[in-house]
Amino acid sequence: MYAQVYLKIGVTKLDRPFTYRIPDELIGAVVPGCEVRVPFASRKLRGFVISVDDKTDIDQSSIKDIISAKPFDPGSDGALFALAGFVHERYGGTLGQALSTVFPQAAKAKGRKEKPLKNPFEGLDLPEKGPVIELNPEQKRVIDTFSADRDKGKSPVYLLKGVTGSGKTICYIRMIEKVISEGKQAIVLIPEIALTLQNIMRFYSCFGEKVSAINSRMTPAMRRDQFIRARRGEISVMIGPRSALFTPFGKLGLIIVDEEHETSYNSENPPKYHGVDVAVERGRIENASVVLGSASPSVASYYHAKKGDYKLLSLEKRANSASMPRVSIVDMRQELKNGNRSMLSQALFDGIKERLSRHEQTMLFINRRGVAGTVSCRECGQVIKCSHCDVPMSLHKDGYLYCHYCGNRIPFRGECPSCHSRLIGTMRAGTERIESEIIRSFPGVRTLRMDADTTKSRDSYSHILKAFKDRKADVLIGTQMIVKGHDFPGVTLMGILAADLSLNVADYRASERTYDLLLQACGRSGRGENPGEAIIQTYQPDNYAIEAASRGDYTAFYEKEAAFRSMMDYPPFGHMLSVLITSYDEDRCRQMGDYLKAEILASDEGIFISGPAPSSITRIKDQYRYELLLKDASISRLCQARKTADRAVLFNRAPKGADIWYDFT
Ligand code: ADP
Ligand code: ZN
Ligand code: ZN
Repeated sequence: MYAQVYLKIGVTKLDRPFTYRIPDELIGAVVPGCEVRVPFASRKLRGFVISVDDKTDIDQSSIKDIISAKPFDPGSDGALFALAGFVHERYGGTLGQALSTVFPQAAKAKGRKEKPLKNPFEGLDLPEKGPVIELNPEQKRVIDTFSADRDKGKSPVYLLKGVTGSGKTICYIRMIEKVISEGKQAIVLIPEIALTLQNIMRFYSCFGEKVSAINSRMTPAMRRDQFIRARRGEISVMIGPRSALFTPFGKLGLIIVDEEHETSYNSENPPKYHGVDVAVERGRIENASVVLGSASPSVASYYHAKKGDYKLLSLEKRANSASMPRVSIVDMRQELKNGNRSMLSQALFDGIKERLSRHEQTMLFINRRGVAGTVSCRECGQVIKCSHCDVPMSLHKDGYLYCHYCGNRIPFRGECPSCHSRLIGTMRAGTERIESEIIRSFPGVRTLRMDADTTKSRDSYSHILKAFKDRKADVLIGTQMIVKGHDFPGVTLMGILAADLSLNVADYRASERTYDLLLQACGRSGRGENPGEAIIQTYQPDNYAIEAASRGDYTAFYEKEAAFRSMMDYPPFGHMLSVLITSYDEDRCRQMGDYLKAEILASDEGIFISGPAPSSITRIKDQYRYELLLKDASISRLCQARKTADRAVLFNRAPKGADIWYDFT
């Protein structure tokens, strides 16, 4: 047996792990995260074990034995080294990448003079500490279960499934109070998009100076300062996006992942780790409770809850006695038959008009900007694509076509590039066009628009939200950005345009995404005193994701989706590893794909592997993209195949000039 050990030496050049042999008498005692003593040159040094393996590629004669090992201490840095080992083992990439993921600021923090560290909220008006909210019976049951488990020293993974507005946040706060009373600390992950000051303040008003928060707009130095405060024990609660998962708390008691189904918890860069799985693993290593919260859990998490891996806690009712919105589905094919060619169905038009007369607010959600602005030819059916990226470009008001992958911009000539027909234009409406149509249809209406264009500057996002909350507009039009997490009591109508666009994506999770988007969107309506309504416009009214979302019936959706996935061996019933190969030379992509496939099959004859095939986006920034897809019921078999591929790339005969990326999908 061998261990990768990270040595505690102050010399930056040697800041990488070394491999040691585990002598027989220490087998079992040397586990990831434990502190060991090892020989190094003529000295004996201390270090933390990152991972334990039964083989090594390193020359046997140069490997030394571990001298001694201490029992694993979950409060030491060892816990984070063990987590880095997990990230590396599961998601691949180099060990260095795994280490810098888990210790993002470590390298830069060295040798820096200590100065007083600032609280990120310094200078802001503190919110009043509101009246203590009394939990309703459902919420009380959740907290009682959690507290009883804590008192028994149990720290399982919970799936907190609660409808929008059921008071999940109140539950999170009570759970945090519980672990703080035990002298422990908590991490709260919130998707970047919902990390508004308003949301952070809900925690700040309860825990005051004990709370810190990070976000991606902060400079690395600011984030590092907050991590240092956490390490010193100056704070007890860290709120942030994915990267907050690695907050170096020494007494971690709780990790909350709000909106656990959000794909933004999955890293786009190697190692492409999945935030929820890493949170569960960190909880296991450090004996911390993990709470995954969602109104529409990922199919994978709900599957684990049904199997008993996670403990299911439910909140079925809205907390402040607001009722769930009334949801209806409008068939847009029928609208066309009735002679309505506008983007608004008759029902939605009437609904907006009514809200305007009652001085209530409306939100209009358009499924996606990139898709919405797509220009296609009605004669030959071609879609205008970026010449570098092979993705559809989208037409903006300034008359230019934009590529959102590489920023390419070309003038739109109003003519089809392939058949020269002039019957060409945007088939689906983008946010700008909807806004124009609303302004035209309802004279005097005050609108706000929120999309990637209107939120480019630093504070524009929160300005738009605040203006809408302060009722400075009647209608807010936006992309997914407006769907998540916001609480606008004045909104009584949510119109969802082109509900099915997110179904037309080449991804097995398209239905799950659609269910979530629609449910969240509907949940924005009727959160205040007045009852809410939502109208879903679609060309596929019978689709089960759309239909179940309209009724808020997660279980019905889950049953259909689970049946489909298990039939197809899609996750969570099977696992899939995608190996992406990129190169400026298309032949090299293919050669590398063929080579890796042969190497993987040579070491594991029966494994399912398809490709190499061009990936759904075949070119980005002039780089070609090919993909191998591996499938198996066991994730460890796929990890093994990935290691084989990693090693094969290092062989002399391996093709050159292509990059490899791994992704569990
Ligand atoms: P969720 O996160 O589940 O969408 P929130 O935590 O935002 O729900 O709660 C929705 C609203 O209900 C908030 O305005 C909150 O203050 C209120 N609320 C939550 N629990 C209670 C309660 N027990 N009594 C009264 N109001 C509550
Ligand atoms: Zn054409
Ligand atoms: Zn492009």
